[in-house]
Amino acid sequence: MKPSTTWKKRLIAALLLSLSLVVLLSGCRKESAPSTSGEPTASSAVSGTDGASSPSPDAQSPSPEAHEVDTDPTSVTVLVNKQYALPDNYNPEDLVYPDVPFLFKEKIEKRMMRKEAAAALEKLFAAAKEDGIYLAGVSAYRSHATQTALFNRYVAKDGEEKAKTYSAVPGHSEHETGLAIDVSGSDGKFAAEPSFAGTPEAEWLAAHAADYGYIIRYPEGKDAITGYTYEPWHIRYVGEAIAKDIASKGSTLEEYYGAVPASSQQ
Ligand SMILES: [Zn+2]
Repeated sequence: MKPSTTWKKRLIAALLLSLSLVVLLSGCRKESAPSTSGEPTASSAVSGTDGASSPSPDAQSPSPEAHEVDTDPTSVTVLVNKQYALPDNYNPEDLVYPDVPFLFKEKIEKRMMRKEAAAALEKLFAAAKEDGIYLAGVSAYRSHATQTALFNRYVAKDGEEKAKTYSAVPGHSEHETGLAIDVSGSDGKFAAEPSFAGTPEAEWLAAHAADYGYIIRYPEGKDAITGYTYEPWHIRYVGEAIAKDIASKGSTLEEYYGAVPASSQQ
């Protein structure tokens, strides 16, 4: 490139920059009403001068293939779904009682969660309370034996095919990880029912759960991927980084691992 051309370009760039600065500065003053509509033009002119050198916004977003499916039952990011099961003999070793209200008073199995998930849940409930949202736990940990009894009861009632659409086969329930919990409002209304969707509690969870490392595990319209219909009350701890990644993309744990759709794997 000839030096004279470079100088001209630099001069134009400098002019555009100073022009846009004037527009932007005047935009700070309230009385210059039309400046709001003028700003996008000015900023696009500025970015146009160094367009080629600005990094692509996609450059840093990882591809789904970048994450190998986590099948370690002791990992907080383990994938458990209709295809990926926990080992038959798996029992979490760090179960505790999270210090949050539940719909029942007893200190029983379904009140327990793994330590890390429990600590995050306490923060989540406290933050909800500050926003005037009073949550309660409905059901958290479920042992393999309990899940087996529960599933068998559903099979006896509705038959295996139908039971599988709303209940997990033993070993395949996230509740067995100690990392998932069903949540409702403190009045217990619509607890673990489709009508929980759209309640202030459900909306709060959808908007804020990721800040505490939780995801809405079975989002609306993702049935074909997760294998479950929409469950706005079932939240799963995966840690803050992955939760925020999934929430910002409106995706699922299956999509994060590139294990999609669950129903066609293996
Ligand atoms: Zn659940």
